[in-house]
Amino acid sequence: MASPTDTQQQEQLPKTQPKFPHPKHSYHQPAPHTPAPHPSGLQVIVAGAGIGGLMTSILLERAGINHVLLERATTFKPLGAALTLSAQTVRMFDQLGLLKELHACSKFVSGMTFYRQDLSPIARTPLEHFNERYGYASLGMSRPEFMTFLLKQVVPHRIHWGKRVLNTMQNVHGVMVRCQDGTTYHGDILIGADGAYSAVRQSLYKNLSKKGVKLSKNDLSPLRFEMFCNVGVAKNLDPAKFTKLKEEWVELEAILANDQPITIWTIPCQNNRMAWVAGGKLVAPRVSEGEESVRLSDWETRTEEDLSKQLRGIKLTQGENVTVGDLIDSTEPELISRVLLEDKLFYTWFEGRTVLLGDAVHKLLPFGGQGATQAILDSIALVDLLSAIPSKQPAVIKQAFKSYYSYRFPSAKAAYKSSAMASKLSGNRGMFADMSRSLALKHMPQSVVRMMMDKLHMERPIVSFMEPPGQCGIVMPNAPMATDIYDSAKNEPELEKSETVAV
Ligand SMILES: Cc1cc2nc3c(=O)[nH]c(=O)nc-3n(C[C@H](O)[C@H](O)[C@H](O)COP(=O)(O)OP(=O)(O)OC[C@H]3O[C@@H](n4cnc5c(N)ncnc54)[C@H](O)[C@@H]3O)c2cc1C
Repeated sequence: MASPTDTQQQEQLPKTQPKFPHPKHSYHQPAPHTPAPHPSGLQVIVAGAGIGGLMTSILLERAGINHVLLERATTFKPLGAALTLSAQTVRMFDQLGLLKELHACSKFVSGMTFYRQDLSPIARTPLEHFNERYGYASLGMSRPEFMTFLLKQVVPHRIHWGKRVLNTMQNVHGVMVRCQDGTTYHGDILIGADGAYSAVRQSLYKNLSKKGVKLSKNDLSPLRFEMFCNVGVAKNLDPAKFTKLKEEWVELEAILANDQPITIWTIPCQNNRMAWVAGGKLVAPRVSEGEESVRLSDWETRTEEDLSKQLRGIKLTQGENVTVGDLIDSTEPELISRVLLEDKLFYTWFEGRTVLLGDAVHKLLPFGGQGATQAILDSIALVDLLSAIPSKQPAVIKQAFKSYYSYRFPSAKAAYKSSAMASKLSGNRGMFADMSRSLALKHMPQSVVRMMMDKLHMERPIVSFMEPPGQCGIVMPNAPMATDIYDSAKNEPELEKSETVAV
């Protein structure tokens, strides 16, 4: 039953979504040029062509840095549900001259609304003012469409498909990667962007342990699953039925199921598609064990019949008389993924010539919407630093990696914490959970919410090797660039020689 405060909030929520104006954008158009090969002559190997790996390849190309991208999948698989990107990362796409194309595969996100199963609203977080405040509207898109967009920007010969990295070795002279098919790759730097079960990370940690380097207990402990979700993208939906598909501005909607700790998230996407996620807490949390965990946590095609049956009848707000069942029926069964979700923040991000980014070092729960953002932010900082190095001497590389870590770790840690909190807010049930939700979503003063959002969006990094875009918003970006941290660190006393791992 709704409490008096719930009712008040219900009255504050509009019955139908107001029309927001089209965000005004003067798309930045960087002058076309082919970058000269980077003076350091750096050869980079990137493992993993997920969001972090693809983004890294795009930026390395613009910086003129030679590289290969190794992906274990033999071809691109359009898996996953949805992603949201805010001005934190959208500004960089504007700098690259890709914003118009990104807009073409996304919708503008006006807010996030939580509902009970009977579709009475609980609370709404407005996002429609982000365009004015931070220069860019938040965007929502299906993950497959975003991946296709990124893939289109990557120079085809850079990607080597069907290359599962097995192990890696490094010494003062370089780094070597061995793949399952027997091929080996040699380079100056290895970037592990190969996800939560990163083979690069495992190899790095193993070699460090062999050398007698003591890793933290946190880094050595297995990943733990407490949550799960089924995800997919429903296609060819009828906009006359799913009426919100027609809108330019869309709401991210979360419906809290009544009798089970499951939340159903939906967001309308371009081309009459609706991305959906049905997830919650596992009854019995599990700890990952070797290969078995890899199978369980990968975003593979696997549905859970029982869950689908339980949720089919739940009504959605994205149209007239539409249900979760309608979405499941419009999703190709082989593109529905069932995933167990783990979260973990690793403390060791680099050593010698190897550095990690994205889920390989910070696996976040997806309910905070920060997984892709954090991987992209890592990529911007790392490539910007690599573009600034004068040579490929081990000490120079080490300095760049140290600056990358000092710049990125605090922000990744904050995202890790906020994602865990968001998962609790949507996942937990019971009186205490209702009270916490109410406090966090409804009773927090708008001024405090605004302050938190402003702080988050101060960080809207761009790369220093290209001209900046013009757009900014009322709140100016004022966090330091990764290269500022590198420059100040250069004045520190001489670095000790990079440690070596036997090849
Ligand atoms: C198929 C899939 C679907 C997803 N769907 C969603 C979603 O709907 N919503 C959401 O919020 N998040 C989703 N995620 C997670 C989200 O993409 C990541 O949290 C975030 O983008 C960080 O990306 P990443 O590049 O660090 O890692 P990932 O996106 O996990 O990419 C890692 C890449 O490395 C490859 N790889 C792994 N091991 C090796 C190896 N040994 N050798 C070579 N390549 C390797 C993988 O195949 C993958 O392409 C999904 C991830 C995947 C892989």
